[in-house]
Amino acid sequence: MFDKNKRRINYLRISVTDHCNLRCQYCLPEKNKDFYNSKDLLNSDQIEKIVRAFSMIGIKKVRITGGEPLVRKDFNEILMKINHIDKIEKIALTTNGVNLLENLDTFKKNGLKRINISLDSLNASKYNEITRGGDFNKIFTTIKEAISKNFERIRLNVVIMKDINDDEILDFVNLTKDLNISVRFIEVMPIGEGKKFLPIKNSEILNLIKKHYYLEKCRNLSTDGPASYYKVQNFLGEIGFISPLSNNFCENCNRVRVTSNGFLKLCLHYNDGIDLLHYLNNDTSVEKLASIIEDAIYNKKPKQHKMNENLNLDNIESKGMNKIGG
Ligand code: SAM
Repeated sequence: MFDKNKRRINYLRISVTDHCNLRCQYCLPEKNKDFYNSKDLLNSDQIEKIVRAFSMIGIKKVRITGGEPLVRKDFNEILMKINHIDKIEKIALTTNGVNLLENLDTFKKNGLKRINISLDSLNASKYNEITRGGDFNKIFTTIKEAISKNFERIRLNVVIMKDINDDEILDFVNLTKDLNISVRFIEVMPIGEGKKFLPIKNSEILNLIKKHYYLEKCRNLSTDGPASYYKVQNFLGEIGFISPLSNNFCENCNRVRVTSNGFLKLCLHYNDGIDLLHYLNNDTSVEKLASIIEDAIYNKKPKQHKMNENLNLDNIESKGMNKIGG
């Protein structure tokens, strides 16, 4: 569907939990006590009803995110229910990879097409430090295994922070030489714990890479949204840039989010949206829910903002990234 500003909205990110089994320093405090009560999270039937409603208004791609989606014991059930919805063509997952390896085959069989895995360092002890406990070798093995399973696309999400992991940019580019993956550099956003870290503009990263490699611009796909992609000549994989700070996201925004407690979130940076929970009981048909969602999305605001300037603070998002879903 199109919103009133003629943007095609074709992508839903649904968060299935705000809980996580890692504590990435830029995302969650070490001793986080602010998780939703598990009973307040959408159950798999509610998730199915929401995604079915979205499918009726033309959403074809769904990304399951969190928190860490794979901490949900019923993740596979959620996946299967979404996979049975006719008009959903692509199901993607964003994960830290901790619980992925043993489930790759099952998830593939149940319709998972694309996986984004977060990996902010190629150095095992630094990775352990950033994630407060993550096992680099396990995640790296998982990534290679996932590539070998021929999913449609495997991407690495790399949040670059000044003086933390900016010395590894070229190492990440080099990964794409022999691995068929997209490595995506993400500017750290001043949301929640992210405020404690200094970002590096993606334009600086691009300039650094260009000093060492000849880059070809890749054609952007309609589902790419705000990311832009390049390829080092003769390398197997590609590199991408997600630049919420230095680039205006809004013009090409193609997405909406649903939080794990059922809030339809129309914009990453603001808390505009509607609570879908009221409509998940049996009194509201899925058709009615679809029309409520359609009205809300139609009125999605054309906010032309950059994250670090001109922000209207009135209804700015105050939730952490684990609640928003990235
Ligand atoms: N647990 C999953 C994971 O680790 O990928 C999914 C949820 S996580 C919130 C989704 C994405 O948001 C991850 O790639 C993470 O690196 C990114 N993220 C979290 N906080 C961020 C911040 N302040 N700025 C930029 N990206 C952030």
